[in-house]
Parts: sequence; C-alpha cells; structure tokens
Amino acid sequence: MLLFDTIFDMQGQSEKYRSQGRKIGFVPTMGFLHEGHLSLMRIAKEKCDELVVSIFVNPSQFAPNEDFSSYPRNFQRDIQLLEEVGATALFMPTQEMMYPKGYKTWVHVEKLDTKLCGISRPHLFQGVTTVVNKLFNIVRPHIALFGQKDAQQAIIIKKMVVDLNMNIEIVIGQLIRETDGLAMSSRNSYLSEEERRDAVVLYQALQLGKRRLMEAGMGKTKILSEIRQLIEAKPTTRVDYIEMHSAKNLAEIGEHPQGDILIALAVFVGNTRLIDNITVSI
Ligand code: AMP
Repeated sequence: MLLFDTIFDMQGQSEKYRSQGRKIGFVPTMGFLHEGHLSLMRIAKEKCDELVVSIFVNPSQFAPNEDFSSYPRNFQRDIQLLEEVGATALFMPTQEMMYPKGYKTWVHVEKLDTKLCGISRPHLFQGVTTVVNKLFNIVRPHIALFGQKDAQQAIIIKKMVVDLNMNIEIVIGQLIRETDGLAMSSRNSYLSEEERRDAVVLYQALQLGKRRLMEAGMGKTKILSEIRQLIEAKPTTRVDYIEMHSAKNLAEIGEHPQGDILIALAVFVGNTRLIDNITVSI
C-alpha cells in the first residue's frame, strides 16, 4: 500500500491511475477502522482497480465543545487492516494542509443539512460536504463509498454530487452491526461497560419502530413516543432526537406513511452521542 501525506503527491498518484485507465474507488474515513469501514472497502475492491482510503479527522465538522481532540486514533492498527483488505493507497493529510491559514471556501447543501443531526450539530454537514469535496478534488475517484450508518450524510452527499455535476458514482453500503445489534462506530470505544449494555436499546427501539410501522394502524406520533419510552427506560440514555422521514430525500411524512421510511435517532449514552437508523418499506 502506498502512503501519501501531501496533497500534491496524492493528486499525482490519482493522475497516474487515471492516465493508466485504472478505475479509482474511494472510501473517506476518520480512522479507528472497524468492520463498517472495511465492508465499504470490500465493495470498492470489487468495483474498482484501485482502492484509495483517506484517514482525516476533519476539524471543521466538530464544534469547539465536541470530541475532535479526543476522537479515537490508532494509525498502526488502521494501516494493518488496510493492508489486509488490500487498499492500494492511503491518504493522510494534516489539518494545516487541508485548512491552511486564510482558508475561506465552504460548501453546504441547503435544507437537508438543517434537520436531524443538523439541529444539534449545525456546523456538522457544512464541514462534511466541504471536506468530501476537497477529498474528491484530490483523489479524483470514479466511485466513492459511504455507509448507511450516516443516512443523512449519504443523502446530502448524493445531492451535492448531482447539484455540482461531479462525475462520481456514490455507492451506499449497508449498516454493519455488532452481534447484539449495536451499530459499529469508532465512538463505541468511549462507552463504559454499563453504557455499552444500555446502548443496545437503540437497535431494539428501531426494531420496535419497524414492527409498529409494519403492523399499520398505529400513527407516527405514537410509534415515536413508544420508541422514546423504551430508550429512556435505560439509566444512561438521553435522547437528542428520534424522527421519521422519507428515506429517499428526508422529506416530512404524514401520520400513516407509505413507501421507504427512515427511522433515525441520536441518543447520548453517558456522554457519548450515538446515531442509528433503520429503513422500513411499507
Ligand atoms: P467515519 O470514519 O465514522 O467518518 O466513517 C467513514 C465511513 O464509514 C462513512 O461513510 C460512514 O457512514 C461509514 N461507516 C461508519 N460506521 C459504519 C457502519 N457501522 N456500517 C457501515 N458504514 C459505516
């Protein structure tokens, strides 16, 4: 695996891949890799000739009171996992390279970035779309892969790519869970034993929501309230949001929705904010 720590060198390598007619698959990450990340990389390996991965904990998507400085990092282990999965290049820029002094340009996707996670983290998606844009310009992938774990992010990035006429195919990989149902996340490493046990309730609550939606009869408001009750019964949890929207474009839905419905939630378990979601087709 080739390792690039400057933008110039990574751009040069991408140019080389392209001039050789090699198809570039790209998986952007913040590192501390787990099976969720690796599953995206395996899809990229199948679809492309070259797998480029980036590891960059992006400061512009964290608010000052959030976990940028404590975000888990383990580059040695990440590099070993990337070698095992068969990544051909790893791009690891520094903060100063990506946002040099005097940096001024931001990309944001109107409306989609002000709901769900955008309410309690108003800076989040502008940081994400800006850094993804920059990474796309550096890596110049043919295909880029994102996880359904971050359902809102996936919808926003797909919209950005269409609106800005980027010639990149966006592939969304399924949400990968631990055996007890907890969605895999680098942030799970923050959880104490008790919190880790309680955290399973997020998946159980989504399953309850799915069952209720499939049974029909019960309206959205009542279902969301049942989900909240189940989560709040655990001592370490505090709900940020639980919402139902169109899974396609996050549009508002009525009391008795039809089609592909996204149930999405963000819950603090102790001090750790976890997100999860499920799509139900009715
Ligand atoms: P992150 O390192 O958390 O920024 O995630 C990098 C990419 O991996 C994003 O596209 C995430 O949606 C995806 N991802 C993270 N966790 C999971 C998971 N449990 N299942 C599938 N994809 C995931």
